[in-house]
Amino acid sequence: MKTVTVVVSVYNEEQALPEFYQAVKKVLDKISWDHELLFVNDGSRDGSLSVLERLAGQDERVKIVSFSRNFGHEAAMIAGLDYSSGDMVICMDADLQHPPECIPAILEAAEEGFDVVNMVRTRNRSAGLLKEVTSVAFYRLINLLSDVEFEANASDFFGVSRKVVEVLRNSYREKVRFLRGYVQNVGFRKKNLEYEAGVRVAGESKYSIRKLFAFAVNTILCFSNLPLKLGIYAGIFSGALGFAVMIYTVWTWIRVGTPDGYATIVVLLCFMFAMLFLIVGIIGEYIAILFAELKDRPIYIVDRTENIHQNRAIRSEGNLTK
Ligand code: UDP
Ligand code: MG
Repeated sequence: MKTVTVVVSVYNEEQALPEFYQAVKKVLDKISWDHELLFVNDGSRDGSLSVLERLAGQDERVKIVSFSRNFGHEAAMIAGLDYSSGDMVICMDADLQHPPECIPAILEAAEEGFDVVNMVRTRNRSAGLLKEVTSVAFYRLINLLSDVEFEANASDFFGVSRKVVEVLRNSYREKVRFLRGYVQNVGFRKKNLEYEAGVRVAGESKYSIRKLFAFAVNTILCFSNLPLKLGIYAGIFSGALGFAVMIYTVWTWIRVGTPDGYATIVVLLCFMFAMLFLIVGIIGEYIAILFAELKDRPIYIVDRTENIHQNRAIRSEGNLTK
């Protein structure tokens, strides 16, 4: 019998967890696959861990990996992939925005031989207009800037086969990363399924607009070198502009006798410095990423685990309790 691992990232979800567990369990008990429910507690400050421990006490299939502090949703999903043992791994949120009713369809695709099952959101009932618009703009931009193809509306709800899990755990250990982007670009047989994002059952969204913006910037820097080449384009542009201003100055000099030097200098200076600082800033962002990679700090640190028997720690990641 094949096993499916459902990876759930949990950050302050004590109110949503009981309902989530019931809903998922109802689906998992009916399918022909064996299952494990792997909760990654991402340093929750509320009672999430004790709720999870209670569930793990009653149900051996509930497994817990608990971080030493909050490392972020991406790190939690990576830990989930690291500790999973199923033939198929499905990542989903704990707030029931990713309907568990979709799990059988994902497994059906897996049985048909698909290695990557992307869940594409048709509608997000809880996202505000601002989130919708910025999301569309972000995907336009990233598809324009990078040479890989991103599915707009793809979410952190996806299923991957063991083969893909091993690729992701071994070869994509970047410190600044966009897991969703890797899942879509590892290749293999891929299928998109649609779903409608529900409303969060309880609690509130942990992603602020600020966090999303930082996330978007990092993703662009991760997948594209184009901003680095901005310097060349800016150089060509300001060179051409300088040339035009030179011609204009010579022309007024011939016609009027005195060129309007002050205005020209101020405009040029402002423009040049703006370009310069922008490019220095962009280079700084890339250096920050290089610095993070160089330091090679762990993506997450595991405090303790529950119901996990095999040691699946990878490189420096996770100082596992043996
Ligand atoms: N989450 C996490 N670590 C964080 C923030 C969020 O593990 O630092 C989890 C959260 O518990 C949830 C999922 O990631 O299961 C998605 O978060 P949320 O629902 O807040 O995001 P949204 O759906 O609003 O984009
Ligand atoms: Mg959510």
